[in-house]
Amino acid sequence: MAIIIRIEAETKHYARITKWHIQRALRWITAEDLQGLGCIRILDHESADPQASTQPPYLRGFVYLGHYYRKSDARLPEIHVFTKDLYYAIPKFLALSPIVTLEVATTIAHEVAHHLIELGHLSVASSTSTKTSLDGRKPNPQEEAADSYAAAVVTRMLQTPYYKFGKIMATGLSNIYFRLGLAAHKNANFKEAASLHYRAYIIDRDNDAAGQCYLRDREDMLSKTPSSLTDAERLWIYHRRAARR
Ligand SMILES: [Zn+2]
Repeated sequence: MAIIIRIEAETKHYARITKWHIQRALRWITAEDLQGLGCIRILDHESADPQASTQPPYLRGFVYLGHYYRKSDARLPEIHVFTKDLYYAIPKFLALSPIVTLEVATTIAHEVAHHLIELGHLSVASSTSTKTSLDGRKPNPQEEAADSYAAAVVTRMLQTPYYKFGKIMATGLSNIYFRLGLAAHKNANFKEAASLHYRAYIIDRDNDAAGQCYLRDREDMLSKTPSSLTDAERLWIYHRRAARR
């Protein structure tokens, strides 16, 4: 059964390229699993978080690249993808690379899983992990189920040489950012270090060291004097840390 899902763009930021990536990613997701979804919407930022447009993602903490909106009175369930955050870590010349398709596939598949959980089509096991994630979230069975659904999609993609190559590129790029971040940290440029380590982690979520370094840089950028942050940025980070979702 072929299910054609509408893809709508409400931003000009990488909209056409993102649509192309989404179409490629959808080939790897079981068509039946998309049943009942209204559309996939491309936005530059999460609309529920309008302030997101004022600060780069590394100052906002670990951001979500997508979101699943449940059915409401007004509309069918939708998946939203946020391009400002999605391409933050991607050099322009790699915008069409399989690195981005893999990232888009991970994001869309994760949100499709939330849709399936909502419909009762995907069972949620009780949480197996006890450790708090890097972004400070407690283990959450629904997120774990969504992550493992997404991981299964990506595993299928990685069986092709094209996406395998994409993964190798992502790991390599992540390592470059990681090393540049260490150098920036050594030079006490904590803001630059945080931005680089953030990108290293977003591009390759298996790069745990980069995620840890990002958290360290962020603390240093707040605590070391003279701070590289403006007062507005400092306030912003304190606010975000307090309001972690
Ligand atoms: Zn989720």
